[in-house]
Amino acid sequence: MNDRPPRVVIVGGGFGGLAAAKALKNTPAQITLIDRNNHHLFQPLLYQVAIAVLGPGQIASPIRTILRRQRNTTVVLGEVTGVDKDRRCVFANSADRESVPVPYDYLLLATGASHSYFGHNEFEKFAPGLKGLADAVAVRNKILKAFETAEAEEDPSLHRNLLTFVLVGGGPTGVEMASAIATLVRAMVQSEFRRIDPSLARIVLVDRGSRVLGTFAESLSADAKARLEELGVEVRLGQGVDLIDEEGVIANGERIASKTVIWTAGVAPSPAGKWLGVETDHAGRVKIQGDLTVPGHPEIFVVGDTMTLNQNGKPLPGVAQVAMQQGRYAGKLIRSRIAGRPAPRPFSYFDKGNMAVVGKGFAILESHKFRLSGFLAWLAWAGIHLEFLSTSSLRVAVFLQWVWTYLTGQRGSRLIVNYHGTEPVHAEQGAPKLSGGRREEQLRSEHVRAE
Ligand SMILES: Cc1cc2nc3c(=O)[nH]c(=O)nc-3n(C[C@H](O)[C@H](O)[C@H](O)COP(=O)(O)OP(=O)(O)OC[C@H]3O[C@@H](n4cnc5c(N)ncnc54)[C@H](O)[C@@H]3O)c2cc1C
Repeated sequence: MNDRPPRVVIVGGGFGGLAAAKALKNTPAQITLIDRNNHHLFQPLLYQVAIAVLGPGQIASPIRTILRRQRNTTVVLGEVTGVDKDRRCVFANSADRESVPVPYDYLLLATGASHSYFGHNEFEKFAPGLKGLADAVAVRNKILKAFETAEAEEDPSLHRNLLTFVLVGGGPTGVEMASAIATLVRAMVQSEFRRIDPSLARIVLVDRGSRVLGTFAESLSADAKARLEELGVEVRLGQGVDLIDEEGVIANGERIASKTVIWTAGVAPSPAGKWLGVETDHAGRVKIQGDLTVPGHPEIFVVGDTMTLNQNGKPLPGVAQVAMQQGRYAGKLIRSRIAGRPAPRPFSYFDKGNMAVVGKGFAILESHKFRLSGFLAWLAWAGIHLEFLSTSSLRVAVFLQWVWTYLTGQRGSRLIVNYHGTEPVHAEQGAPKLSGGRREEQLRSEHVRAE
C-alpha cells in the first residue's frame, strides 16, 4: 500500500490558484504551486500602475511570501507547457531546465487569460495591452514619454498628435484608463509643464458596442459616459477599429492621429484546453462540470478565466470573484476527497456585484437590483479593493498613497524606466536559450528599450 501523502499540483498563483492553495492549508497533502511569475498580481489595480498612481510593488506580492506559513506547500517558479493525463504529470520549464515532469494525484489549472487582438496580432506592436506588471510599466513609459516629447517639441502644431491618447475598448479597463489619463493631464500638465497647453490633450475612447461598460445596467453606463465627457474624454461608440499603426488608428474609416494607443478590448484564455486535449468553447476556454472537473477526469480541476461553466443558462463572467470562489471550492473538494468525506454540493457562484471607477471620486456600483453612482460608490470601490489586496502591507501602502494622491494630486510612481537586459538577444541564431516566459519578458524589455 502506498502511504505517501497525495500530491496536489496547482498551476497559477493568481486569484483562483491562490484561493485553492489556501483552502488546502492543514490538509495532509503535498502541494506544489507552479507559476511563471514569482508574484501574485492584483489585476484590478493594474491600470493605476499604468497611469503612475501606484508602483508595481504596491499591487503585487511574492507568492512564496503569501504562503510562507503553509508548511505543506512548495512554490516553484516555472512555466507549464503541457499535461500528460495518462502519466498524470505536468511539464514545466524553469530558468535552467526544460520540460521537467511534475507528477500529480490532483491537478488544478488556474492559468488565467491574456489579451486578445481578435486575430489582429499586428496591432500589438502599436497598441500594448494590460495584463501583467511589465505591460503596465510599458504603458506608463509610453504615456509619460508622450508628455516629455511634447514638452521638448518646439512646434506647437505637433503637440496635438503627441497628446492624443486612444483607448480601444469601453469595458472597465478602458473607462478607468481614459478617465485616469484625463485626471493626470489636469493635475500634472498645468503645474509642471511649460510648453504644453493642456487644452490640446485629447483622450479618445473607441468601442464598437452601443454603450460603455456594457455589462452594467443601462442607467449606470449612461452615468459613466456622462462623467467621462465631463472629464473631457471623447467617447466614440458603435465604431470598430479597422487599423492600428505608428500614425494612430483608423476607426469607422476615419484616421485618428495618435502616438499613444492602448488596447483594452479583449481577452483570450490560456492554452490549458490544448494541454488537456478536451472540449473548449469557441474562445478556447475549457468546458468543465458542476464540480469544476474536466469530464472523465475527476482528478483534474480547471478554475477562473481559463474555464467556462454555465449558471442559470449563462456563462460565468471572467472576474476575480468567480476565480476565487472556484479556487476555494476546488480546494475544499480535494480536501474532502483526501479525508474520505462526502463531496460538497456542485459549485454555485454568489455574485456580490460589479464596480468601475470613472476618474477621481466617482464610481459606479451594481449589486443585483441595487445601483449607485458617484462619490459613495467610489468610497465603496476603494474599501473593497483595499480589502482584497493580498497582504496587510500592501493595504497600508495603497491606502496612504491614495490619500496622498487624492489630497495633493501627486502620483506615487511617475518614473520612465527603461529596462536594460543583461544578455543580448539576437533575432534567431545565437540567442541564449530561455523558457517561453523569460524570453517573452526579455523581448518585451527590448521593445520598451527600442521605444
Ligand atoms: C487590467 C485588468 C483589470 C481587471 N479588473 C477587474 C476588476 O476590477 N474586477 C474583477 O473582478 N476582475 C477584474 N479583472 C479580471 C480578473 O483579474 C480575472 O478574472 C482574474 O485574475 C482571474 O483569475 P485566474 O486565477 O483565473 O487568473 P489570474 O489571476 O490571471 O492568474 C493566472 C496565473 O497563472 C499564471 N500562469 C499563466 N500561465 C502559466 C503557465 N503556463 N505556467 C505557469 N503559470 C502560468 C500567471 O502568471 C498568473 O499568476 C481584471 C483583469 C485585468 C487584466
